[in-house]
Amino acid sequence: MLTIALSKGRIYQETLPLLADAGIVPLEDPDKSRKLILATNQPGVQLLVVRATDVPTYVEYGAADLGVAGRDVLIEYGAEGFYEPLDLNIACCRMMTAGKVGVAFPARRLRVATKYVAIAQRYFADLGVQAEIIKLYGSMELAPLVGLADCIVDLVDTGNTLRANGLEPRDLIMPISSRLIVNKAAMKMKHAAVKALVGQLAAAVASRSPAEYP
Ligand code: AMP
Repeated sequence: MLTIALSKGRIYQETLPLLADAGIVPLEDPDKSRKLILATNQPGVQLLVVRATDVPTYVEYGAADLGVAGRDVLIEYGAEGFYEPLDLNIACCRMMTAGKVGVAFPARRLRVATKYVAIAQRYFADLGVQAEIIKLYGSMELAPLVGLADCIVDLVDTGNTLRANGLEPRDLIMPISSRLIVNKAAMKMKHAAVKALVGQLAAAVASRSPAEYP
């Protein structure tokens, strides 16, 4: 049995066509079913529906053999406990700094609100900018509006969320896409099945047009 961990929403929707090219079609839609384990047309393959930030945990501990997770999630998790053989070129967006429209970042120590503490810390340290990182779990756009922070670090796709809140994107930190990750033991113990699936997914990715970062 091969078990693949995925999160609902964009990653699930964009992974489906790649899985279909590899001959794997889920028998249920997670948006319509409350089931967390989805059978597929292949008796030897099942999907786990987990939170995006939990995908690396399931794969590292071997509860899933493979998983699909954003580069943002993998960097925050600390990508040591699994292999990352393939960039799936899906769920593409950009990790950026953003601030209030027309308001320059202050020269003093910068206050940065973000869910992505590790990425923000490394980014500002590499720039040599003194930054106090304030961890939030959501609605980061609010922080500069109410004086909690001078800037935010967040994923930007269309930029609509920033614009709707009087913010503007500033500097690109890194492009983000979703990656296939593989449990280290599964890579050895289920080598033939894992290798075949990675190969089929790689071919599916290669047959598509290159990633388009917004
Ligand atoms: P947008 O308004 O299109 O720029 O989208 C920004 C919002 O969607 C932010 O709240 C992001 O955290 C979220 N977002 C955008 N792209 C992704 C992605 N690839 N994965 C997860 N969240 C994303």
